[in-house]
Amino acid sequence: MCSLEQALEKILAAVVPLPAEAVSLSDAFGRIAATPVLSPVDLPPGDNSSVDGYAVLAADLASATAASPVTLSLAGYSPAGGKFLGTLQPGECVRVFTGSLLPRGADSIVMQEDVKPQPGQPRNLLFYESVKPRENTRFLGEDVRRNDHLIEAGEKFTAGRLGLLAAAGMGQVFCSRQPLVALVATGNELREASQPVEPGAIYESNRLALSVLARQAGAIAKTPPLVTDDLAATKFALEQAFANCDAVVTTGGVSVGEMDWVRTAFTEIGGQLDFWEVALKPGKPFAFGRREGKLFFGLPGNPVSALVTFFLMVRPALLHMQRARDILPPRQTAPLIEPLENRGGRRHFMRVTLDLAGNVRSVGGQASHILSATARSHGLVDVPPNTTLSAGTVVEVLRWD
Ligand code: AMP
Ligand code: MG
Repeated sequence: MCSLEQALEKILAAVVPLPAEAVSLSDAFGRIAATPVLSPVDLPPGDNSSVDGYAVLAADLASATAASPVTLSLAGYSPAGGKFLGTLQPGECVRVFTGSLLPRGADSIVMQEDVKPQPGQPRNLLFYESVKPRENTRFLGEDVRRNDHLIEAGEKFTAGRLGLLAAAGMGQVFCSRQPLVALVATGNELREASQPVEPGAIYESNRLALSVLARQAGAIAKTPPLVTDDLAATKFALEQAFANCDAVVTTGGVSVGEMDWVRTAFTEIGGQLDFWEVALKPGKPFAFGRREGKLFFGLPGNPVSALVTFFLMVRPALLHMQRARDILPPRQTAPLIEPLENRGGRRHFMRVTLDLAGNVRSVGGQASHILSATARSHGLVDVPPNTTLSAGTVVEVLRWD
């Protein structure tokens, strides 16, 4: 039986990175950058105003006070998106708006709220305070310089990063191709949502839950039809899945029962099994192998075990296929509000909640068929074998999101 770390090492070593493809910016959310993106422009592209107001020469207002304002004459307008064509002379001001280019000759902006027209002389404006040069002004390249890296290879396109790329005028980016992952559910007892469930049958739920984790990892999930506990049917389903996808994930039928055909089927279609069984709970019966450069993951059928093993071992592989920098789950350290006890001989990834105060507690039912508890959980805490973590212990929560 291998440790989780050994399992992950073997899985990641078997990953074949996917090629890059051009993606329009509007489709790039959640994708992984295949190359760094260098800015083609300076941002802001020119010196401009950060407020609605008046462009001035700071030296003109050096003596301005509330009691003795300085008068400047209005020389023109610089609307946002337009330009004041002249050059501001001493004694003059120019009307500007947020985003207006700083008129030639001006060095600072006074907010409109601090300026009043002289009574009966709308083109003569009264300034009651001095300003520092550059006040209320945004400068060319202050945010981004041409050729600055806007995103590095392996980073994920988020709202903020995509906004930055759009501001730099980018239309498309290169992303790693999204892995296609087949989610194959096996089990005679499984039924589709629309089918009747006679006694002994249950609704199939793994494909949906795993497809969400797959999507969160940037993959595209395919969900072929349910597979019965039958060697020929399992071989056929696996062959189909390998023909259409980069990775194949099965659930169920991977243990030692005589109805468990998944491992046999995989090797009989030419797959090479790298390991079977990982020392963790839930999810000991977990198989990993390769077939023609594609990955195979045989997950246990129990929905909680399937979710946890996918999260810990399939998710990193899908991200690594896209050359993502962060392939491990998001982590948060936080104190336990109550003890967390693992009486078993395998490390236990226990489902926990994190409350708004940042305290961690068990979700309650930790058996691998207790879906309702997992549904409430925010993440997992890795509790070593035969260990009780006492209240107050600071633990690392591996967050589902
Ligand atoms: P197995 O790993 O095939 O022995 O299945 C273990 C348990 O998980 C059994 O109770 C199955 O009914 C259940 N199970 C297996 N696959 C699924 C599935 N896709 N959706 C819901 N429950 C499942
Ligand atoms: Mg089964």
